[in-house]
Amino acid sequence: MTLREKMHREQQLKTLFNQAQSHAFEYSDNALERNVFPSAQALADLAKFDEPLPANSADAESILKQLHSYGSPASVAQTGGRYFGFVNGGILPVTLATKWLTDFWDQNTALHAMSPITAKLEDICEQWLRQLFHLPDNTVAGFVSGTSSAILCGLAAARYRIFKNQGWDFNKRGHNGAPPIRIIAGHHTHGAVIKAIALLGFGIDNIEWVECDDQGRIVPSAMPVIDNRCIILLQAGNVNSGAFDPMHEICDKANDANAWVHIDGAFGLWAGGTKQLSHLTEGLEKAHSWSVDGHKTLNTPYDSGIIMCCDKDALVMALQASGAYLNFSESRDGMLYTPEMSRRARAVELWAALKYLGSDGVDELVCGLHERAVQFADELATADFEVLNEVVFNQVIISPSEDDEISQSIIEAIQQSGECWVGGSVWMGKKVIRISVCSWVTTDEDVSRSVRAFVQARRSVCGK
Ligand SMILES: *Cc1c(COP(=O)(O)O)cnc(C)c1O
Repeated sequence: MTLREKMHREQQLKTLFNQAQSHAFEYSDNALERNVFPSAQALADLAKFDEPLPANSADAESILKQLHSYGSPASVAQTGGRYFGFVNGGILPVTLATKWLTDFWDQNTALHAMSPITAKLEDICEQWLRQLFHLPDNTVAGFVSGTSSAILCGLAAARYRIFKNQGWDFNKRGHNGAPPIRIIAGHHTHGAVIKAIALLGFGIDNIEWVECDDQGRIVPSAMPVIDNRCIILLQAGNVNSGAFDPMHEICDKANDANAWVHIDGAFGLWAGGTKQLSHLTEGLEKAHSWSVDGHKTLNTPYDSGIIMCCDKDALVMALQASGAYLNFSESRDGMLYTPEMSRRARAVELWAALKYLGSDGVDELVCGLHERAVQFADELATADFEVLNEVVFNQVIISPSEDDEISQSIIEAIQQSGECWVGGSVWMGKKVIRISVCSWVTTDEDVSRSVRAFVQARRSVCGK
């Protein structure tokens, strides 16, 4: 049998896909109960993947079997209810099923001509998100891999516009001899924003840093005088404390001065889609660009970032490519709003999530994460753990000990317990535990069980 015959056969028989499904279902049930972090044995078994590049075609069933036998156990059980590391989201069943279906489509979504259905659903997502976040009517959206990429797009649009306002066409003339522009950011700005500043050639040393308060929010009165050369970076959701920068006053001043404001709201922008928590994002509609993830708070599969921008011309001018074979249409051509050309149909999962939840469901999901974060903080405080932040959203910062080394040992003991997984961070110079409640799966009991694991870990390290 030739290789092509073999593949045709696999496609016709479909047993491969049944096998994948049965492995996946086994994984999914298991993930609710197994150790959150892989066991030592699972990690040691990763050596099974060490082999030279094979010369011959392998059997497809054995590839899936190998992945399930040695890959599944070495994954982090993030889809269970007790993963609180970083700010990683869970996955809504409907989005996962949608992904399976659309994987069979294998669409490239660069142009309308490549995938009318994806172009259509990108349009719908754009409208729905604009409505959900209360953004201006002229806001457009680009569907990118994640917030890191979305920030890059927002700042590229800002760069185009701010230079253009000085009579400088950045696309043609670049940085050489360009008029100076100013970058203003709070001390708590996320690393992905700093990276974008470096990548886009602004220079980290040129950032005008602004003082933040004890929650990591920019202090508005500490802002420098804003003029029309400024790009201002605000955040909706501090990656440690979950705090939101005050937006009204700074955006008003920026608009008066014809400056640009980008809001990084990777996980926090979703507060704007709720009733109870939307006070956190008040004023955000007065900014110019916003970066947000579907794959964190909304619980879509990974690879779902969104850049939203109310200056379509600036965004498209900053990101557009040209080529004789590129026929832009009257309809939506997704690549005009993204750095990539070829992209998978990620917006379909986002559409499925929004359609499934509706605005009430988004409210319930997001507020549910907040409620369980508050529960976490309350139960930990009762167990004599020091809570260092105001739990305004889904993040909780815990100081397990006054001594950084002991804190580190407690973090490791929690991680090794397999009961739950939390990461460490540094907050106001102190080693801390950072808890992020990000998955719809997490129940009240998951939180209580995790608190018991904290208590047990402290006892094993401190003897009390
Ligand atoms: C996660 C995060 C980012 C980066 O987003 P990715 O989707 O991981 O690229 C940027 N800013 C904040 C505040 C984040 O939480």
